[in-house]
Amino acid sequence: MLNPHPIFSENVIAKILNMMRDVVAKLPVLHRWVILAVFSLVFIIMLLPSEKANASRSTASPTQLVVGQHYDVPVVEQLQEQSQQPDSPKPVTKSIDLKLIEKRVVVQKGDNLAKIFKRNKLSAALLHRLVNLNKDSSALTRIMPGNELTFLFNEKHEFQGIRVPKNKLDTLIISKAGDTFETRIESKTIEKETQFAGSTIQSSFWSAGSKAGLTDAQIMTVANIFGWDIDFALDLRKGDSFNILYEKHFVDGEYVGRGDILAAEFINQGEVFQAIRHSDGEFYTPEGRSMRKAFLRAPVSFKYISSNFKPRRYHPILKRWKSHNGVDYRARSGTPVLASGNGKVIRSGYTKYNGYHVFIQHGNNIQTKYLHFKKRPNVKKGQRVKQGQVIGYVGMTGLAEAPHLHYEFLVNGVHRNPRTVKLPKSQPIAKKERAAFELIVKKQIALLDSNKRVMLAMQP
Ligand SMILES: [Zn+2]
Repeated sequence: MLNPHPIFSENVIAKILNMMRDVVAKLPVLHRWVILAVFSLVFIIMLLPSEKANASRSTASPTQLVVGQHYDVPVVEQLQEQSQQPDSPKPVTKSIDLKLIEKRVVVQKGDNLAKIFKRNKLSAALLHRLVNLNKDSSALTRIMPGNELTFLFNEKHEFQGIRVPKNKLDTLIISKAGDTFETRIESKTIEKETQFAGSTIQSSFWSAGSKAGLTDAQIMTVANIFGWDIDFALDLRKGDSFNILYEKHFVDGEYVGRGDILAAEFINQGEVFQAIRHSDGEFYTPEGRSMRKAFLRAPVSFKYISSNFKPRRYHPILKRWKSHNGVDYRARSGTPVLASGNGKVIRSGYTKYNGYHVFIQHGNNIQTKYLHFKKRPNVKKGQRVKQGQVIGYVGMTGLAEAPHLHYEFLVNGVHRNPRTVKLPKSQPIAKKERAAFELIVKKQIALLDSNKRVMLAMQP
């Protein structure tokens, strides 16, 4: 590291040393001592690090700072920026020589910016100016107890800037630029790790999902991914199972949260459904068909239905659909009712038997009907609705003994079971995405399979 002349090979150095030894041997003793002293001195000077190396080392790692104390800190950022872009013009020498004093302040409970600024002898006018600089700078007002703010002063204690953490990833930096201030956001990179979760349903998907380590939001996402294939309100059974791959996020080695679900598999009454996330954020079957279809299997969100899932007392269907041409979803009064597909409202009103109800026409040949709303529907006749849009709320108006949604699905005027009716295949993934998607499928399916094998091996 400290050899200043790496161009000399060992051989050459040895030869020179030999030559010098021969010369020195022929000299008087005093001369030998003088020469030895001179060489030693030269050697010691060579060992001393140059000034440049010394400077770069001192900026490499700031030591622990104590709140409320002043420290002299060189302008590290400018030096780093310069070294990253060797072609860019060098910043003026003045800005490098300028010493900034960094002062870190941890926001206390009951603190606010006005108090913090006052304690640091900064005016309310300055605070007002900073907060109102732009959209980014308004993050200043959202500081929380525990946040660490960093004030930057020059040697005359003139305000030069402030660093404010926005979240675990982003830091807002306001810095003085002449007479005005500049803002920028500095972002840390997220490291991603793939995690596996899988289980078999005993009592409900919620509890099985939670036990497997999924969050409520992830459980809902899985129900949404398969919401066009599986009726999560009525079709789940004990023994159904699921396997999920999802991302965990880390910043500076610290866990910060969960990312996307990457792949999901749901085995419902023996039927296997798989969904793989593509880089467009959409889920497709491994064959490359969109998971999104023209109709949701259930016009109510799993979120509201699942709490009723009790395997022994599980009789959500009040009547068989054949006997009364529909499916009944038992749900708490007020549960949102969703349009199962895009379409146009052809009826919205009240009758003695249907209570408050909505009929929707989808394309030319399919109609869906929703009965017994709690109150007047959310949509009017003639209105276009989108799949998943809330059209009303579960109730028991009309001929109903308990709050429930009565749902009918008609193809060419004939009642069909909405939970089993065959629907047209969904859109395939774009041709140009095909090759990239197949690589993702290969990787994720292999990862799912290997994790499933490990899970099985660990089971008693
Ligand atoms: Zn019914």
